[in-house]
Amino acid sequence: MSAYREIVIPEDLIQKCVKCGICKSVCPSYHGEEGSFARGRLALAEMVVRGDLPLTEEIARQWDECAMCRRCEWICPNDVRYKEILVAARALQSRKVGKDLLSRMGLRSLEFMQSGVGRKVVRLTGLLTAPLPSELKIPLPTGGVKFFPKPHRRSFTLRGKTFPAREEKGKLLFFTGCMIDIFHGETGESVVKLMNRLGYTVVVPRDIRCCGAPHLYHGNLDAFEKLKEHNLRELENYEFDALVVACPTCGGALLEDYDRGWEVYDFAQLIAREGSKLKFRAKEEESITFHVPCHSYTAMRVNPETFYGVMERVEKVRVVRAELAQSCCGFAGLWSIQHPKLSERVQMEKMEDFGRTGADRILTACPGCALQIKDGVRKFGSNQRVTHLADYLAERLEDD
Ligand code: SF4
Ligand code: SF4
Repeated sequence: MSAYREIVIPEDLIQKCVKCGICKSVCPSYHGEEGSFARGRLALAEMVVRGDLPLTEEIARQWDECAMCRRCEWICPNDVRYKEILVAARALQSRKVGKDLLSRMGLRSLEFMQSGVGRKVVRLTGLLTAPLPSELKIPLPTGGVKFFPKPHRRSFTLRGKTFPAREEKGKLLFFTGCMIDIFHGETGESVVKLMNRLGYTVVVPRDIRCCGAPHLYHGNLDAFEKLKEHNLRELENYEFDALVVACPTCGGALLEDYDRGWEVYDFAQLIAREGSKLKFRAKEEESITFHVPCHSYTAMRVNPETFYGVMERVEKVRVVRAELAQSCCGFAGLWSIQHPKLSERVQMEKMEDFGRTGADRILTACPGCALQIKDGVRKFGSNQRVTHLADYLAERLEDD
């Protein structure tokens, strides 16, 4: 039985917190209140577990404001397993206080869009919106606007296909994930191209659904378990040596929460480890900077230097490191819609920091972060281009 079946806030894990407050310095949701960063949220959980406080809407708000970036967990000197505690706290919250309509609808729509009917609806929407600009300005129900990409004209086209390597050294199962499946078909194609050139045959399962990480992080345990069970059943139909992802949130869920002991790699890890013969060359000189997605190092435990090492191999390109490269971009999935003011504050700091680098282009290794940074470019008037690292590398990959 999965660790997430039972809703028990693990008190022994909370007690590992020594209240040092180091996590405050890295928390994107901190806005002055003790309950707006990990230490305070954990203290509230402890009081609820002990029955010292009732689980009120105010406590639920403080837990809800967490972006689940897990930077607190990453920096914590005492190995407090924050995700486990907050997932349980939020699960209890959804049972006792209920979840807001927006997050319920957002999570349901992720489930729907990957279903058979949902995929047809996504494709039709892609066709109907084809003449419109690539990003649409959508008013948010919580106030403000956000620029969202349209469904990609090649959404879901990789599904159910095998892409053989010329001289196969192994087989990778590519877990594409919702963002790539729906909005960024080109990034999926880039990953296939890069992995093929490394010598891997790439298999894309026909009927995978959302990895369930958004549901888990919101404390919707039943939905997470259903998605996981569906995906496990589907993945049983394929033979593979390891999984590859280009979205670290999916990668983190597959590594940590699918209980299969799989090897799961970010595509950049494989290029760093095995791609010394690949040559990348830009057509013209340019400077690039990088946003390190939180879940790449907090959930997947990828060393950020892995990405820089890969980028530094592109000829004619200068890599400029942003001071806040590793701080949260403010996306965090539905969080940016539920808490637009918190999200925009974080986003603005990031955009100012990217501006200071003077780089022509901002790269990242997560389709969600790319969406958020593109939105930031539009909102804060930068002229920097934004590209997923897989697309950047695939375009600059030289022939054998
Ligand atoms: S860094 Fe860790 S131990 Fe320190 S307050 Fe935060 S969660 Fe607690
Ligand atoms: S997960 Fe992120 S937003 Fe939530 S408390 Fe930790 S650092 Fe702050």
